[in-house]
Amino acid sequence: MHHLVPLDNLVAALSRLPGIGRRTAERMAMALVQDRKGLMRILANALLEADESIATCERCGSITLTSKNPCELCARPRKDAQILCVVESPGDIMKIEESGGFQGRYHALMGRLSPMHGIGAADLRVDRLLQRIADENIQEVVIALGTDVESDATVSYLKEVLSTRNVRVSRIAFGLPAGSAIEYSDSATLSRAMKGRQEID
Ligand SMILES: [Zn+2]
Repeated sequence: MHHLVPLDNLVAALSRLPGIGRRTAERMAMALVQDRKGLMRILANALLEADESIATCERCGSITLTSKNPCELCARPRKDAQILCVVESPGDIMKIEESGGFQGRYHALMGRLSPMHGIGAADLRVDRLLQRIADENIQEVVIALGTDVESDATVSYLKEVLSTRNVRVSRIAFGLPAGSAIEYSDSATLSRAMKGRQEID
């Protein structure tokens, strides 16, 4: 079988997406090259537009428009602006916001401690977190991480770091199924978990 370099490059790029294996990437690439309705251009334009107009909020780490940074969650008044919810990723912020169970501010760490994947404390946005606690007069930090081993390790680390600050630290209650991620939880479960958060002893 002969190889076409542009097709190989397309497959290689697609297979870098989460949940897309080699076989799926090949099927997607073949569908794109065979499409007769301009899907390749539509997709390419959508990708370029998103790349140019979507940014990461410099404050909380959520996804925002390049023209709105800090994002609306950071810039607009919030009922519980002195409560800061720490999550792993921007997707978690969206899920908790959809649940309607939280009225404070957010802070995405952009990962969790994972020695196996070479992610250490320096890779998480902890310095920025400490700076925000001071700058925004944060009274309580709610840690909304999952229930797996890496999340537990991250919580322990945060608890230690935050113990030097004059701030209450809590963790959302485990209304979540064991081993699950915030990203895949439904709104009702997340809302309950947020209401039942507990102080870490
Ligand atoms: Zn923000």
